[in-house]
Amino acid sequence: MSEYDVIIVGAGPAGLSTGISTLYTNKDANVLIVDSRQEVGEEKCAEGLSKDWFDHMSKYGKYLLSRLEPKCFENEIYGVLLVLPSRKEIKIRTKKKHGWVLNKDFFLKNLAKIFEKRGGEIQLNTSIIRPVIKGKVVYGVETNEGNMIKGRCVIDATGINQTIWKKALNITEPLDKKNIEICCQYKVVDCDISDDDLLQIYSSENIAPGGYGWVFPKRGNKANVGIGCQGSRVMSAVPYQEKFWEMLKLNGKIVSKKGGTVDTCNLPESFVWSNLACVGSSARFTNPVHGGGTGPGLFGGYILGKNIGNAFIHRMPVEDALVDYQREIKSIRGKAHEYHYRVKNLLQACSDEELEMIFSSILTDEWMKSMSFTRREILKVIGRISKKSLRLGLKVMKYLGLG
Ligand SMILES: Cc1cc2nc3c(=O)[nH]c(=O)nc-3n(C[C@H](O)[C@H](O)[C@H](O)COP(=O)(O)OP(=O)(O)OC[C@H]3O[C@@H](n4cnc5c(N)ncnc54)[C@H](O)[C@@H]3O)c2cc1C
Repeated sequence: MSEYDVIIVGAGPAGLSTGISTLYTNKDANVLIVDSRQEVGEEKCAEGLSKDWFDHMSKYGKYLLSRLEPKCFENEIYGVLLVLPSRKEIKIRTKKKHGWVLNKDFFLKNLAKIFEKRGGEIQLNTSIIRPVIKGKVVYGVETNEGNMIKGRCVIDATGINQTIWKKALNITEPLDKKNIEICCQYKVVDCDISDDDLLQIYSSENIAPGGYGWVFPKRGNKANVGIGCQGSRVMSAVPYQEKFWEMLKLNGKIVSKKGGTVDTCNLPESFVWSNLACVGSSARFTNPVHGGGTGPGLFGGYILGKNIGNAFIHRMPVEDALVDYQREIKSIRGKAHEYHYRVKNLLQACSDEELEMIFSSILTDEWMKSMSFTRREILKVIGRISKKSLRLGLKVMKYLGLG
């Protein structure tokens, strides 16, 4: 029977980053990543990634960036083209690079290579059906073939399904549909996109109820085109995506059509239990406003791996390291995440007319100079909204917890 220091279930950005960070902190740790896929990779993602996440991960961020091959980054992004419900277009472009549209499949394969080079082991084609628990201790995981893999700690990096965590804590309730986005995306080639250094975001109830439409351009006339709609408002995103595609008139050729679901929750009270921890989308780290989960997964994995690696070096109980991980995430990300969750709830509670008023009140020439969301700037924006509609100003204050 095999035995590991750390078993990570899921080779997405969060699981791979947890594995690399553990070995980056402690090269002697014995780390296994298990995934049900035949190969590490991803095909249903819009592939946007902000550069800020690497800056937030200090030396580890630099370490990762220096080992990622240029092929991971298919396009450099310098801003956003926001299309308001009235179809008015607002371009926000800066001299500073904000991030990339990735080749996420290659990016994940590259992360897997970094992990294996540091001595980690990956086992593919293996579905984990449950954690093996006695009393309050997780002894390992059971595979679909009935084998047990033993580990000193188990990490649930299974994404939105949270498979291991749910089984461990007997959670049977599905996620509240208000806190999921149902998505549909086409990968497109040979399309006409001007301003291919900007991410395009389309905001309108008619295009994507409780969500938004996107065009994320790649070099060579390629793009990811999709929409996400709030789960409580639509049964399927497909008809909305078909209408969106027709509206865009990009003249491209669709090479793949994929569906998927994204969590847009607040941070849970707890994502650690005994020697089991969740990370990434499984811990609900995804940004609730735009549904970006790659960066939060990389960052969460960095903090988790650092704490686990150090626990083994200092012969500390791993349970304590997981509690420290949860505390660190909450202190660094908790307030910002809660604020994003409030913003998401606000945007989903607004009509097209209200969205138009909010965005045009934010994106003034004055704001474009600072592009800041400090409390002072937010209060100025609310002042501008209130001049147009006092009722909407009060609504914004209520949702943001300011009144
Ligand atoms: C259409 C769409 C567009 C998106 N666009 C963006 C974007 O532009 N930018 C962005 O940042 N995010 C985007 N996201 C979200 C992003 O893809 C996820 O938030 C992110 O991948 C989460 O990372 P993760 O590592 O937590 O989980 P995942 O990437 O979901 O990885 C989980 C892994 O666990 C494996 N697994 C699951 N269960 C088991 C099991 N029982 N046994 C073994 N293995 C298992 C899976 O095979 C998978 O490899 C998008 C999502 C969708 C659906």
